[in-house]
Amino acid sequence: MSIEINNLSKKFKNTLAVKNLNFKIEKGKIIGLLGPNGCGKSTTIGMMLGLIKPTAGSVLINQKNIENESNRTKLLEKMNFISPYIELPKKLSVEENLKVYARLYGVKNFKEKINDLMKQLNLYDLRSRQTGELSSGQKNRVSLAKALVNNPEILLLDEPTASLDPDVGDYIRGIIEDYASNQNATILLASHNMDEVERLCSEVMMMKNGEIIDRGKSSDLISKHGRKNLEEVFLKIVRE
Ligand code: ADP
Repeated sequence: MSIEINNLSKKFKNTLAVKNLNFKIEKGKIIGLLGPNGCGKSTTIGMMLGLIKPTAGSVLINQKNIENESNRTKLLEKMNFISPYIELPKKLSVEENLKVYARLYGVKNFKEKINDLMKQLNLYDLRSRQTGELSSGQKNRVSLAKALVNNPEILLLDEPTASLDPDVGDYIRGIIEDYASNQNATILLASHNMDEVERLCSEVMMMKNGEIIDRGKSSDLISKHGRKNLEEVFLKIVRE
């Protein structure tokens, strides 16, 4: 599935959080979204999921507007996300949480699907533990299992490895990479981890003050801005 964003803007009272964004993501691509805190990444992702109503412009998923209610229901069946703002119900066990989401998404053979995901993400031994009692690395793996439960064709990942140690972060990146190549999924990855973005993304969009101010392959951006790595490009753009 493809993503097309046309003249998308969002104003909250006096804050223009997203200003006239335009971009396309073709099916099967992993695109990074980089930018400092408060630049509008989460608001953009919220609008892509049809959770935040744009002030202007449109989000087309497979050429269908996500704001249209009948489109949205069908499209969201094939989409999923990770968001730092949404916690899984704490009192439910790992397995119960995954069951709830699998049933919400109408997953066929959901028991088998959940067992496979729990095994793949090293959650099987934790399956009866309450999700609220897990460490942040363990919770993160449950969030990823939830995000993959409906075999999404579009994944919107808002800082999927924030606050993880390098080992768990690397493990999660490996799973995302495998999923993307096996399923030919379309992925938008908002992250502050530059190595993650360089490793996973074929292209990067640089966002600042609600606008995309540059876009390209990591290597092209690095040479264009005359810097050694993506982190230096990021710092240059943010401080300019
Ligand atoms: P990022 O994800 O890049 O950190 P956000 O999209 O969360 O940025 O925020 C962009 C801007 O919009 C910020 O100035 C933030 O304070 C503002 N903002 C986000 N959500 C709301 C809201 N619900 N009400 C008012 N302002 C908001």
